[in-house]
Amino acid sequence: DVAGDAVRRLTRWCDDFPAPGIRFADLTPVFADADGFTAVIDAITQAAPDADLVAGIDARGFLLGSGVALRLGSGVLAVRKAGKLPPPVLSRSYDLEYGSACLEIPGDGIDLQGKRVLVVDDVLATGGTLVAAADLLTDAGADVIALAVVLELAELGGRDRVGKYPLTSLVQI
Ligand code: IMP
Repeated sequence: DVAGDAVRRLTRWCDDFPAPGIRFADLTPVFADADGFTAVIDAITQAAPDADLVAGIDARGFLLGSGVALRLGSGVLAVRKAGKLPPPVLSRSYDLEYGSACLEIPGDGIDLQGKRVLVVDDVLATGGTLVAAADLLTDAGADVIALAVVLELAELGGRDRVGKYPLTSLVQI
């Protein structure tokens, strides 16, 4: 399992970031490694070989999304944090441990009706971000066929939260 080995070997663990008590997994060295990045992209591509659009979540999901879309021969859609896209936008707010966040996609110019979408991100923690993205795309008419992340922080229960959407993670910790 080349992808899993690269993730386990190269992930940089940072204590008390971005807040005290949180242990942050930084996958930057995995993506910067030629074999690691290629293996990760190939493994995620296999999670949904019949997707016809890949949605990457701001910001590290963009790196994964474009790589996977090239492999699939599909388009790529950046799911942005609030305030980055010109109107009109479709948005979805969700709760964080402290406060809330919002994801957005363009409200016109993209026909999502019936599109088979793979949603990708680097890390699954509580699952709030991935569910918000998947629900946003579903509300816009897309058929979200799969969610994929590189690293699943299993103790945070994200897998339960994403519930109805099929989820692939390359490494579970
Ligand atoms: P969740 O919504 O709690 O699942 O958090 C997932 C989102 O926050 C994703 O967009 C991740 O990129 C980011 N995130 C949360 N925890 C980590 C981490 O330990 N490393 C990197 N990103 C993280």
